[in-house]
Amino acid sequence: MLNLYRPEALTDFSQPANVAAFQAALNTVKARIGQTYPLVINGQSIALDKTFDTINPARPAEVLARFADGTADHADQAIQAATEAFKTWQYVPVKDRARYLLRAAAEMRRRKHEFSALMVLEAGKTWYEADADTSEAIDFLDYYARQAVRIADASDQLTPYPPEQLGYYNIPLGVGAVIPPWNFPNAIPTGMLGAALVTGNTVVFKPAEQTPWIAWHIAELFWQQGLPSGVLNFLTGPGEVVGARMVQSPLTRFISFTGSKAVGLWIYEQAAKVQPGQRWLKRAILEMGGKDAVLVDETADLEAAAQGIVQSAFGFQGQKCSAGSRAIIVGSVYDQVVGRVVELTKKLSIAAPDSGPKVDQGPVIEPDAFNRILNYIEIGASEGKILTGGHAVETESSGYFIEPTVIGDVPWDARVAQEEIFGPVLSIIRAADFDDALRIANSTEYGLTGAVFSQDRARLERARQEFNVGNLYFNRKCTGALVGVHPFGGFNLSGTDSKAGGPEYLLLFTQPKSVSERL
Ligand code: NAD
Repeated sequence: MLNLYRPEALTDFSQPANVAAFQAALNTVKARIGQTYPLVINGQSIALDKTFDTINPARPAEVLARFADGTADHADQAIQAATEAFKTWQYVPVKDRARYLLRAAAEMRRRKHEFSALMVLEAGKTWYEADADTSEAIDFLDYYARQAVRIADASDQLTPYPPEQLGYYNIPLGVGAVIPPWNFPNAIPTGMLGAALVTGNTVVFKPAEQTPWIAWHIAELFWQQGLPSGVLNFLTGPGEVVGARMVQSPLTRFISFTGSKAVGLWIYEQAAKVQPGQRWLKRAILEMGGKDAVLVDETADLEAAAQGIVQSAFGFQGQKCSAGSRAIIVGSVYDQVVGRVVELTKKLSIAAPDSGPKVDQGPVIEPDAFNRILNYIEIGASEGKILTGGHAVETESSGYFIEPTVIGDVPWDARVAQEEIFGPVLSIIRAADFDDALRIANSTEYGLTGAVFSQDRARLERARQEFNVGNLYFNRKCTGALVGVHPFGGFNLSGTDSKAGGPEYLLLFTQPKSVSERL
């Protein structure tokens, strides 16, 4: 009997012992810099001459590791291996499959700082953000292990019909293409892999090109638990080559994707095409972008609201799908809240995240992102008024640092108020009143997260119904969803609202089979 799931506690970096332990993990991980990693298909390592680098965005000249540059042929081989492995893995009892996840969770908990340290270097996460990411990864493993056992046999939900004996089983789908983004490079892949495997599917795991190093360690963690060969295949390479082939293969049964709207929409379309030889309709589980808003009215605790806005906007440099990249503030308290937001933003420290736990802002992920964000800041300067930030930060190491930037008096329909920037840029919009604020909040094509700061019960209840997002928070920030506590996923063009970390998530990786025996 499993004990109750509880979220993993975050590390308290005010404790010197925790700081020392994290520093030691950083040193351990730094000693691994410079290795070359293969593809792993059917348990076999395949080294390729052609590789690509993964770097530290705080010091781009620092090549952390090299990864095999896989091709569409490798994707086919990996899918074939997963297809073979599915023949037996699908019948492994669910409790045994769950044990793989529980063991992986226990091991990741033991090596928690090591996994976080990899993200500090490869993704530019601060210690706090990296620790939260690893905690979430552990939570997914622990939570899905329990959920898998719960949902496997749903026969007791049927209406009895004697003398027939009824069965209702949630069985696996087949081979999954697991395609995560780089921004939660531990939690999201671990969650997707855990969900797919524990329900009896086999997978090809293609990490984001920016974060294959941490991905390798996740795959290795699963293999170390003794997974049979071919159950989890590791395939690095360009998304538009290997990822695209995984999506289009007739042997792929489902796609578990998190990433940008553009790629998500393309996958949705491709998944709908039945390829020659394909014998099923592919399932597409797609989680995409957001343009999330924090709403503040005149009854709110304004200090809490300002804190919530800054945390939501700038955690991990605003590179979260849940980031509160819009603040919508009712006119009568606009100046007061904006003044405090600017004050708090100016206090955020910017440095290479491996320099210590007190860094608030690291670099953005890569040159493309760096240029895109600076371009949006220019657009924002013409659409509104830059109140703080607005520039790149020069460093000796040429890291991709950008000042946390607040743009005030942004019209609700401006580009910086409608398009996902995915960087440390906050657009502040003035609303006439609460009604206007709610209308503005719902005005984008997305619908992922949102927050309302208000003490007015009737308004909160209106927002509960009318604020059209998958994850709504009252009087707190709009980021930081916890597994099992805040099932996570968005409406509209934010995706298929799969609610990762929720009680129904695993059903997306299964199909129910109804069996009746006349006794
Ligand atoms: P991205 O779309 O560029 O890449 C995501 C993944 O898709 C990567 O692994 C990439 O290699 C792969 N890919 C790219 N082209 C492909 C193709 N043609 N076929 C198959 N795979 C392909 O996104 P990103 O920059 O890695 O991530 C940032 C985006 O992710 C943001 O829009 C963010 O909002 C979103 N996101 C959403 C959630 C959520 O839960 N809704 C969570 C995290 C991130």
